[in-house]
Amino acid sequence: MSRAKYIAGNWKMHLTKRRASTLARDMVAAAENSNPAVKVAVFPTYVHLDHVRRNIRNSNIILGAQNCYGKKEGAFTGEISPYMLRDMGVKVVMIGHSERRHIFGETDAMIFEKVKIALRAKLDVMLCVGETIDERKAGETFKVLARQLKVLKVVKPAQTSRITVAYEPVWAIGTGETATPQIAQEAHAECRRFVGEILGDEAAQQMQILYGGSMKGSNADELLSQPDVDGGLVGGASLSKDDFSPIINAASALS
Ligand code: PEP
Repeated sequence: MSRAKYIAGNWKMHLTKRRASTLARDMVAAAENSNPAVKVAVFPTYVHLDHVRRNIRNSNIILGAQNCYGKKEGAFTGEISPYMLRDMGVKVVMIGHSERRHIFGETDAMIFEKVKIALRAKLDVMLCVGETIDERKAGETFKVLARQLKVLKVVKPAQTSRITVAYEPVWAIGTGETATPQIAQEAHAECRRFVGEILGDEAAQQMQILYGGSMKGSNADELLSQPDVDGGLVGGASLSKDDFSPIINAASALS
């Protein structure tokens, strides 16, 4: 089964309003010069969403948010509802990024609630999963992935096409250390198998599974060439046109 490549930039807590707007315009130009079969998304911080939305308005770039709360509305000071994101023009929300899990203590139970309400709010979901270095060394990688992917039990058959999984080994995020293409392929194939157990084979074959963890222009081609690697979730290298465009180009060449 051939799946479209999907390249997403996670801008984390970076950039000013002006720099985010400029980068958004740069991304529009980069996407215009790339293969239209490649999906491109950007995930700015909440307060830049509206500026970025205006700058990508006439393009195919997808607007994503980095997080949401697991409730529709209520007395949850400082939180953002997925319905508010939808209202802002956001199309996809990232849930379960390792920085949310490990710095902010998000549990699988919280992530389950977020996925459920985000789908109900008609947002697409990018669910991030991945093992720590200790878990990998202990031989627990697949056990961890299976546990984290269990939240997909909340997804109804008609919603499966709205889910993307990002496999992001925690030891490779922001460290400059990238998983080898073999490690990535092995983990992606296993994620796809787990998705199949939960949502069925057809959904698993159609699901885009992205790799995240120090992807850059110099390693994108070999990672994206793996049969189960359908794209990249890119942090550091998504913060400049010169670093992000080669990744989009690598995906374009393979599409
Ligand atoms: C990420 O934040 O999801 C990520 C993969 O970051 P980096 O590319 O910087 O490792």
